[in-house]
Parts: sequence; structure tokens; C-alpha cells
Amino acid sequence: MDNFDQFTGPVLCVAAHPEDIEIHAGGTVARLVRAGIEVSYVLCTSGNRGTSDLTTTMPEVGARREAEQSRAAATLRVDDLTFLRHDDGDLQYVARELRAEIVRLIRQIRPHTIITHDPFPGDGSHDSCAIYPDHLTVGMVTFEAAFVCAPGPLFYPEQLQEGLSPHKPEQLYFMMSQHPDTFVDISQVWAQKMDAVQLYKSQGRHLPEVEPFFRRIAGELGGKGRVDLAEGFRRLVPS
Ligand SMILES: [Zn+2]
Repeated sequence: MDNFDQFTGPVLCVAAHPEDIEIHAGGTVARLVRAGIEVSYVLCTSGNRGTSDLTTTMPEVGARREAEQSRAAATLRVDDLTFLRHDDGDLQYVARELRAEIVRLIRQIRPHTIITHDPFPGDGSHDSCAIYPDHLTVGMVTFEAAFVCAPGPLFYPEQLQEGLSPHKPEQLYFMMSQHPDTFVDISQVWAQKMDAVQLYKSQGRHLPEVEPFFRRIAGELGGKGRVDLAEGFRRLVPS
């Protein structure tokens, strides 16, 4: 089962941190670009607290991780990146501002599909990363922005006065879900995905060491999707 044919227009990926997209959806992005579908990224933070180094600073960490993110996106042939530069770990406290920013980007980019974090990933027992508050916040805010605010003319009417118009995406793809129901076969783009992931040296993503870990996850998802290697998502369409 390969649900790739559900992508029929521009795709916006909204993630909390650098590397979230490549790790959980990098193969899907590679396929989208190969199919000629426009892909844009929004990074809500630059991961500027993502270090255990006692000698560095938030600006240094953020700059390094933005550079890694830009290179990884370029590896997948994506060049439309927006860095919102909220502080890593604080997203739940800036959700109001974040919502307005994401609505604006949805009205500008006008995506058919949004790939983002799952705000209801499951019980969290499998992976504490899935219930990290930054991820949950981005998932919920993006869901709200996509299906409630961006289509509603009375949300942020100043954006309409600037020339933007309401927009409602056709579907959301939630990554990092404990209950994936939608699968993308990434067997043919596995090497390209790993080329992107291994650029995140600041996060210890060195090849060949990390390849078996990610291959095991892709293989498990592939088992559920009845393909070799897959990325898995939970799909949500507007009611
Ligand atoms: Zn993350």
C-alpha cells in the first residue's frame, strides 16, 4: 500500500525543530520533489536549545542547526524554508503568535496538503519524543490554523486587507503518530533520505552508525504498509 497518490498539489511541512521533517517525512519529501510537487518548509524554532555543550550559546546552536536544516532541505531539493525563530522548548507559551504566523503562511503558500506533528500521537508510551510539548503545540496550532483559521475571513482580517485570501487545505498528514493509517513507500529514495539525515551532525546523526536505527523504524512502518521501507502518517481531512 502506497498512499502517495493522495498528494495532488503543493505541500507545506510545518515542524517544531530542524531535522523533524527529514527524520519523519524526508523520504516523502524526496518523492514529492521528484514528482514535480512544490514543497515548502516552516521551522517554528531553530532548535536553539538542542545541545548538552556547556560552553555554547543559544544563538550559536540556532545558527548551526539552521545551517544543517538548510543543507538537508537542499539535499532533498527544497529551497523554500521559513525560520520563525521562536525559542526551542517555549512553543506552548507563544502559541497565539505562532498561530497567526502559520495562518499567514497557509494563505500565502496555499498548500493542498500540510505535513506536521500529530497533536494526538497516542499514549506516548512508545516514544517520549512524540509527546514533547513543542511537537504537540505545533500539531495543534497547525491543525487549528489549517482547518479553522486560514479558511475563516474573520480570523486575522488584516491579512486579507493586505491582499491574502482565505484558504483551506485538503488534508493534514500527521507525522510521529502512534497510529499511522497512511503510508508512503520510500524504498526508492532511502539513500537520499539518509543523505539528508546524516547532515545533522550536531544531533549525532552520523552514518553509518545511525542507519540501522532508522532502517528498523522504516521497516516496521513498511510492514504495516506492506512495502519494504515506509514513512507513516495519520491522515486527517476536514469534516
Ligand atoms: Zn522535534
